[in-house]
Amino acid sequence: MELPYAESWKIKMVEPIVKSTREQRELWLKDANYNVFQLRADQVYIDCLTDSGTGAMSDRQWAALMTGDESYAGARSFYELKDTIARITGFEYVIPTHQGRAAENVLFSALIKPGDIIPGNSHFDTTKGHIESRHALAVDCTVDEAKDTQLEAPFKGNVDIKKLENVLEHNSDKIPFIIVTITNNTAGGQPVSLENLKAVRALADKYGKRVIFDSARFAENAYFIKVREKGYEDWTIKDICLEIFKNADGMTMSAKKDGLVNMGGFIATRHEDWYESAKKYCIPFEGYLTYGGMNGRDMAALAVGLDENTEYDMLHTRIHQVEYLAKKLDEYGVPYQRPAGGHAIFVDASLILTKVPKEEFPAQTLTVELYKEAGIRGCEIGYILADRDPVTRENRFDGLDFVRLAIPRRTYTDNHMNVIAAALKNVYDRRNEIKRGLKIVWEAELMRHFTVKLEPLA
Ligand SMILES: *Cc1c(COP(=O)(O)O)cnc(C)c1O
Repeated sequence: MELPYAESWKIKMVEPIVKSTREQRELWLKDANYNVFQLRADQVYIDCLTDSGTGAMSDRQWAALMTGDESYAGARSFYELKDTIARITGFEYVIPTHQGRAAENVLFSALIKPGDIIPGNSHFDTTKGHIESRHALAVDCTVDEAKDTQLEAPFKGNVDIKKLENVLEHNSDKIPFIIVTITNNTAGGQPVSLENLKAVRALADKYGKRVIFDSARFAENAYFIKVREKGYEDWTIKDICLEIFKNADGMTMSAKKDGLVNMGGFIATRHEDWYESAKKYCIPFEGYLTYGGMNGRDMAALAVGLDENTEYDMLHTRIHQVEYLAKKLDEYGVPYQRPAGGHAIFVDASLILTKVPKEEFPAQTLTVELYKEAGIRGCEIGYILADRDPVTRENRFDGLDFVRLAIPRRTYTDNHMNVIAAALKNVYDRRNEIKRGLKIVWEAELMRHFTVKLEPLA
């Protein structure tokens, strides 16, 4: 008999989580203004708000914390981190930052001027924020396949090379760099193929442009290349990572994702001129060059995390769990962005709460229903997150309306996935009874989803 699948780790430390009653949750939701960001974490049973900084460190990472060198300048932990990054990515110059958006802030301060254009594939919201706040424009060149949630395609995170060439042809003088997000978070944790990365590189070379990879989930992207792209089946994850980064000039990294730490980030590049110009911003914004925004011990744990998470067994366990949840949803008929992404399932609320008008925020309504059902916290990646158009101040209803169920790394078991799937099934089964959604009673001008206050309409 073939041996069944099991996780590539065992558990050494546990953290209790508590259930609650529907009555309790209804009161808590009201107090939280129907915005799950405003719930207290101990009012949540299974927390799928984000996979960012919510994973479990390994015994080796906890051990590395004790060896951290807290010297202000030239800490050994910095050199351990720098050497690990160079070994995995090929990039020689490294600047640590306190998280991914800080890496963007430092590097973009050096590279972006007002009026610039930065093409890429579905820029992440902080990336877009750091581009737009500099009065530059982020142009989305993601493949159209990503918009059809029911289409099964292996690399829905890809850049549409024609769209990119069009932007390069018409605006070449305004483009400081191209940015490719791996995996494509906003499109549903969908990977980008090596073939596509190579095509972006070739186009960038043709126009004399540099390329940055927003690399929060580069290891998951490498795993998908190994299992989905022809020719890489027998490659190690580390060799695929090196091959990926050959196509970039530099990277920004949120280490809270594939770095397997709770806080941290960095910039890495092969170009001395980029390093020199970013240095000027690192010191005032983040800190001295050999710690940036990080403790020595945290750099030590990150070095171990990067090494562990670029091994096949670790990634297989991770992606297998996300796919396991997807299979359960298939059994129950619940629609989501197909195929399952690397770090999350993006449930397609527009295909579930068909009776709730767009103006009443179906995905936020589904997020609230799922919390009421079982204390599960997802995150709306839809019309509320999309904010208003900066010029017309109208809500933007042209994108997708998802509930993202992000799966923290090494944190929950497949039994928790069963609970999530069953709770969603229960809501799905009564979907036609849900006819009214929510209205906004207070909102911030930008990034409103964190603090928005809502009221139910029914
Ligand atoms: C999380 C994330 C960021 C920002 O990183 P933080 O660590 O949250 O500041 C940037 N890009 C992508 C693709 C991300 O997922």
